[in-house]
Amino acid sequence: MEKILEEVLSRLPKDAKISDATFEGANIVIYTKNKEFFLDNNGVIREIVNEIKKRVELRPDPSLCHEVEESKVIIQSIIPKEAGADSILFDPQRSMVVIEADKPGLVIGKEGEILKEIRKKTLWVPLVRRTPSLKSQLIENINSILYENNDYRKKFLNKVGKRIYGEYLRGKKKEWVRVTILGGGREVGRSCLLLQTAESRIILDCGINAALEFGDLNAFPYLEAPEFNIHDIDAVILSHSHIDHCGLIPLLYKYGYTGPVYCTAPARDIAALLCLDLISIAAKEAEKALYSSGDVKDMVRHTICLDYEEVTDITPDIRITLYNAGHTLGSSLVHLHIGNGLHNLLYTGDFNYETSNLLAPAITKFPRLETMLIEGTYGLRENIPESRAEAEQELIDVVVKTVKRGGKILMPVLGVGRSQEIMIVLERVMREGLLERVPVFVAGMVWDITAIHTAYPDFFNNKVRKMIFHKDENPFMSDIFQRVKGQKEIAQTIEETGPCIILATSGMMVGGASVEFFKQLADNPKNSLVLTCFQGPGSLGRKLQEGDKEITFQEGDKHDRVKVAMEILSIRGFSGHSDYNQIISFIRHLSPRPKKIIINHGENISCLELASALHKMFRVETSAPKNLESIRLK
Ligand code: ZN
Repeated sequence: MEKILEEVLSRLPKDAKISDATFEGANIVIYTKNKEFFLDNNGVIREIVNEIKKRVELRPDPSLCHEVEESKVIIQSIIPKEAGADSILFDPQRSMVVIEADKPGLVIGKEGEILKEIRKKTLWVPLVRRTPSLKSQLIENINSILYENNDYRKKFLNKVGKRIYGEYLRGKKKEWVRVTILGGGREVGRSCLLLQTAESRIILDCGINAALEFGDLNAFPYLEAPEFNIHDIDAVILSHSHIDHCGLIPLLYKYGYTGPVYCTAPARDIAALLCLDLISIAAKEAEKALYSSGDVKDMVRHTICLDYEEVTDITPDIRITLYNAGHTLGSSLVHLHIGNGLHNLLYTGDFNYETSNLLAPAITKFPRLETMLIEGTYGLRENIPESRAEAEQELIDVVVKTVKRGGKILMPVLGVGRSQEIMIVLERVMREGLLERVPVFVAGMVWDITAIHTAYPDFFNNKVRKMIFHKDENPFMSDIFQRVKGQKEIAQTIEETGPCIILATSGMMVGGASVEFFKQLADNPKNSLVLTCFQGPGSLGRKLQEGDKEITFQEGDKHDRVKVAMEILSIRGFSGHSDYNQIISFIRHLSPRPKKIIINHGENISCLELASALHKMFRVETSAPKNLESIRLK
């Protein structure tokens, strides 16, 4: 048995009747057969937590828990009807019951009194979650992966804990830290970093460059680099769920990785959805998918979700904390505390230092910080887009103009983030009468991702969170939004409708519904195409921005020529990334200020110029490494 478990057990009273002591990741869980001790341990557990500074949880031995059906009846009789608790899921392996309710507060009760009563009367440990306001099959599937047949999950979490609390080699080896860029060095797309210490091997993000053609080797990180050995990897950390950060994680499982992925809960759900979508896109284009839905399931089964600012050990010498990054729902700045004060690294992933229509700005206060790895997507000074207010006005203007001439507006959007922000803006300006009410068609995947958003109101900024809590103000439930599913259904609906707005993925128009709608709408000068996302080199969106007037689509031997007569407009102000000024302001507000700044995730010139500007401005060491370069941090 691990030393730390022995230590916890030695501090418990003799009659505690402990039946099992195990790990759930970095958390320690002990099971007792003593009913009285479970219901009231007299502060013993709190004392242990204070002394060993690790999370310790006491649960009843499964033999103490009342029968599932009986407990369900008891729980339903205790919870007030107004709570809307319609789903009660039992997790017998862990003696836990998950209660989903419209109003979680009513399930918890004043000072947790209702939860206490559930514990007392059923001898299960209750966990409360909010029911998403929009139904999502995906969330239900994810829950069933996690809570049913979870013998594997329990063993897996225990294995992770054994690695974390196993023999720590510090003192026997020299300490060092280095980071290798496996993708995303002086480019946008395929973000992937390998962090190595004498003790640990950590992968930070593992994405695909979605702007490139299927099968283009430049779309994937350099996983063939000699430093990378899949069987040595201790943990994967996902900063946020965009395909250029999460798209290749299921492949790691396909090739034999069995360790954890750390991220927030919304990032896990959205990542699963995007990876499944990648498989279906491959099928549509008659290409071989990179991995199967089983591999995506494996990713979900191995994911350990963290809340913002929850500190957790992930290996014997690395402790991580995720902070709000302001980029997408559940996006994180990843703070890594390495060794016992040896080094502190912040990996920003993609971040936005501005209050958007969805999220609060990125966090700038950290306990310690020596090196920062920062994105440079908009690192050029001349690259400053208009403000959000100006962007909103531009959007209103183009919709008004297009509606007036009887046209339709196609908005290719990133399914994650941009689409929900545009939905919130459209709902507001139509509600306030700034824009005539026209139908907004939300195509397939955008709807599913929006449903996931409504399941995690805590991750929005204050304003949106409050609106979602009040059902009648929830902007995503507005009747201006019409869900349309299949391609044929949408094509027909649009044909038959007058002026309307269509939100569809992909944002760069590389595959997906947005390309199909483009083919349908391009030759009519009454229509408008509004681009709101970063358009990667080589993407259809970039070609249209550059003024291409004829686009050829190739399908097998068939060439399909499409004339572009519709109005093309780019609105950059809804960016989910910090622009040059915001990057500077973010660094200025950082506390403490890092001694070294490494720039990635930006085109060559953006990374180099930002490195030079930051060096001059803040007098710190800066660099913009290329792919396959390693930097020693300590
Ligand atoms: Zn991103």
